[in-house]
Amino acid sequence: MRILLIGPPGAGKGTQAVRLAAYLSIQHISTGDLFREHIDRGTDLGQNAHTHIHAGLLVPDEVTIGVIKERLARPDTERGFLLDGFPRNLAQAQALDGILADSESRLDAVLDLEIPEVQVVRRIAGRRLCRQHREHIFHVDYSAPEVAGVCDFCGGELYQREDDREATVRKRLEVYRTETAPVVDHYQALVTTISAHGQVQEVLDRALDAIGQGQADAAGTSS
Ligand code: ADP
Repeated sequence: MRILLIGPPGAGKGTQAVRLAAYLSIQHISTGDLFREHIDRGTDLGQNAHTHIHAGLLVPDEVTIGVIKERLARPDTERGFLLDGFPRNLAQAQALDGILADSESRLDAVLDLEIPEVQVVRRIAGRRLCRQHREHIFHVDYSAPEVAGVCDFCGGELYQREDDREATVRKRLEVYRTETAPVVDHYQALVTTISAHGQVQEVLDRALDAIGQGQADAAGTSS
């Protein structure tokens, strides 16, 4: 399966993407994570990306498209992939369409996570990530670790992303409204909008239902 996950910062894309990809046995590809890996390794690409991420802006298209092209060319994506955070504007959507056409493949679904903006700031302010494994994500109120500052899964140190400061979050939301929201229209025929409200498992169940992989669907009891 090839799936896109779209939604504003703080909608829980990363949290859901990890679970959906594991459930479907497909690769989870997050452009944000790919950039953060470059930043940690101190590459030129990472330094360039950092300037934009820090300001709440999109990393330039030629950089982002290059990164995603290289990632999608790896053989582990043959079974499918879930793109988290790409495409984020129309130029990137068109580039993805070209990449898929070249490999004679197509998208199966586009999931659009929806959340009121007032909730975004609260969610992001409490978000904490594990230094050891980026997919280990916590929230100080909604999914708190057993010991503050320590990852439940691997004992790694939890930290706050620097672009999760309120001023940067507001800029990211503005960029989302103007640049990313049109991507949903671009993929209109494939889009299912899902409420990001509620528990992690509830949102996951909605997402699985939307792609015909819910428990009821699997049992053949759903219409
Ligand atoms: P979130 O979805 O919470 O904003 P991400 O980890 O997906 O977090 O992205 C963090 C930052 O990385 C973005 O604010 C942006 O600066 C950069 N980034 C991620 N994906 C893209 C993309 N497709 N195009 C340009 N910049 C991107």
